[in-house]
Amino acid sequence: MQATDIDGKAYADNLSNRISSILPSFENRTGRMPGLAVVLVGSDPASEIYVRSKNRKAQNLGMESFVYTLAETTSQSDLLTHIEALNADDRVDGILVQLPLPAHLDEMEVINAIDPDKDVDGLHPVNSGRLLAGCPGFVSCTPLGCLMLLRDHLGKLAGMDAIVIGRSILVGKPMAQLLLNENCTVTCAHSRTEQLAQKARQADIVVSAVGKAGFVKEDWIKPGATIIDVGTTKVVIDGRKRLLGDVDYQAVREIAGAITPVPGGVGPMTIAVLMHNTLLAAHRRSGLEAPAL
Ligand code: NAP
Repeated sequence: MQATDIDGKAYADNLSNRISSILPSFENRTGRMPGLAVVLVGSDPASEIYVRSKNRKAQNLGMESFVYTLAETTSQSDLLTHIEALNADDRVDGILVQLPLPAHLDEMEVINAIDPDKDVDGLHPVNSGRLLAGCPGFVSCTPLGCLMLLRDHLGKLAGMDAIVIGRSILVGKPMAQLLLNENCTVTCAHSRTEQLAQKARQADIVVSAVGKAGFVKEDWIKPGATIIDVGTTKVVIDGRKRLLGDVDYQAVREIAGAITPVPGGVGPMTIAVLMHNTLLAAHRRSGLEAPAL
């Protein structure tokens, strides 16, 4: 039997609708809408597209959206001054600096400059520490979106064996920690992992965040396992641009129980979770109880 597709687009649309339904009561209580500030340095075409879609999403939901496009030549100290101003701006609940930054800028110093309570991208070390300690904070949007899909599909995750392939600060590490916090038994694999296929075959949950098309094969998969494909690789096939995941989708869906397609699986979740994190930040900063979403 073929695996069920996990429909990230439908889940993300539903999450967006729930966020949108909460905004009027937030406005009634505070006299304002949650505000998201996105900072783009330079004119990388892919980054411009991401920033545009974040801005559009926030506006469509009715949030305040502030986009700051800074010159490619912006200095580190000017960028830090800009971040400080956003930290102090009461209209701004969430700050996101679009990565990657131009090579002359120090990304980690910039992330560290963001007020952790406005760090809706969840990349500040304070938020990594909060996740590790199981304290409320902000979790990177893509892994949190993956967890939402897993919970929705599987219900309780406790006791399951999970493997996360990839250990970046953006995806792999927070994903592994989230699953550990759900009481899964977690293997976090990376480029030096040996016998990866054998390890993956033990797992009830496989999350792949590598960035190599078709990397995860059907003989890596335990029958009935749930597969979350985070990876995206742009390719041109027969002159047409396509986005491929890490997982050999056609072959793996013959073995797995459920799988996120690419596109339409994890991708739509990332922006919806950014809005979720911004709503959360706005409630916390206003001293209001965070809504359960
Ligand atoms: P990254 O920083 O490049 O990390 C890739 C990870 O894959 C690294 O930890 C690396 O291990 C590991 N890896 C590389 N080759 C491997 C191998 N042969 N075996 C096992 N592990 C291997 O990338 P990222 O930022 O985490 O993103 C991962 C993928 O997810 C990319 O395709 C990205 O485009 C995609 N992504 C999608 C979304 C979305 O919204 N859909 C959001 C974020 C990212 P080492 O640490 O040992 O080098």
